Amino acid sequence: MISLHTSPLAQPGTGDAGGMNVYVVETARRMAQRGVQVEIFTRATSSDLPPVAELAPGVLVRHITAGPYGGLGKEDLPGQLCAFTAGVLRDEARHEPGWYDVVHSHYWLSGQVGWLVRDRWGVPLVHTAHTLAKVKNASLADGDRPEPLVRVVGEEQVAAEADRLVTSTQAEADDLVAAYGADPERIRTIAPGVDLRTFTPARDREAARAALGVPAGAVTLAFVGRIQPLKAPDVLLRAAAVMLARDPGLRERLAVLVVGGPSGTGLAEPESLVSLARELGIADVVRFLPPRAGAELAEVYRAADVVAVPSHSESFGLVALEAQACGTPVVAAAVGGLPTAVAHERSGLLVDDHDPGRWADALGRVVLDQAERQRLAAGAVEHAAMFSWERTADALLATYAEARRAQVGGAAGVAV
Ligand code: UDP
Repeated sequence: MISLHTSPLAQPGTGDAGGMNVYVVETARRMAQRGVQVEIFTRATSSDLPPVAELAPGVLVRHITAGPYGGLGKEDLPGQLCAFTAGVLRDEARHEPGWYDVVHSHYWLSGQVGWLVRDRWGVPLVHTAHTLAKVKNASLADGDRPEPLVRVVGEEQVAAEADRLVTSTQAEADDLVAAYGADPERIRTIAPGVDLRTFTPARDREAARAALGVPAGAVTLAFVGRIQPLKAPDVLLRAAAVMLARDPGLRERLAVLVVGGPSGTGLAEPESLVSLARELGIADVVRFLPPRAGAELAEVYRAADVVAVPSHSESFGLVALEAQACGTPVVAAAVGGLPTAVAHERSGLLVDDHDPGRWADALGRVVLDQAERQRLAAGAVEHAAMFSWERTADALLATYAEARRAQVGGAAGVAV
């Protein structure tokens, strides 16, 4: 696998680390459990990193030096593609020929590298875009910068070159065909998963709240994810302000949790959110928490009565699945993959705009009516159970094998 711009060892929920990191780690682990050796190439961002690190049994992370360790943003990385590719090729050259059977690139920068190494190694290139610039640019939030032309062109090239394109939803597959002219025959739609061992329903919701300092019995709304304009955490704050204006008595028992770290720039940076909460007169009920992993993150989902995913654009939305697996209904924007991640009226509600009044209606419907919340909570657990990383990894392995079979002169398939 190639994950150039963000390391599978990074903590998701801040900076450039998010769902893609989780996807790479979870699928690599499951593949290794099935006896497939996985090596993940990523750019070295610190001199302390060893050249090779073991992420899990059977999964190695190879750090490739390409440019200075610090000081480069994602927008600078197109300038490091040559250095990174050279590093990958040199690293592979130390093995006997035929070391790798398949290259799976994640995000367009890795796709550019995968395209070249695929040709050199004579193996298929499977590519997952994770997000698409043209889709993102079509629904930018205030304060968000459009994705640059270099990315659009780079994505078009990878869409044309990859042997297989993996999308998370049919909607993303349609976008690849309509906006990028991708060949539908080469697209495979494979749903991402959720770790159903870590994200389990609350046995004691109040204990989860107490651990986070949320008052007992509080009506708790949560946002989890990278704090950036595209994720629209401001919509949750505005909706909470509307709920309080409609019912001032709620102030005594409302808590809003915002969990995650800064990513990119713009209106939704944590400092701006703090000022927004103050401007809206709700600073006393909002609690900002730094990003957290695994069990600690599950506690946040369990503490919440509802998790809001108000993104302007979202290719899937793992947070929505994780929250539901913890028995917490989700109110999400009806964009991108979120209508797949959330079953409208069964596991949560979809809202088709970002109007704070309509968000207050939807959030209020879930949290202020106990019977309705319990119905949606049960539906949430059921819906999340339909997704698993084991299934995702198996479908990816089948796609690798199929891509190898389709390759002219290729071997008869990956032994799995
Ligand atoms: N995440 C995390 N800790 C946090 C916040 C988020 O580990 O404090 C993880 C979360 O569990 C999810 C991922 O970051 O798996 C975010 O994925 P999603 O698809 O929701 O959004 P993306 O970051 O890909 O835009």
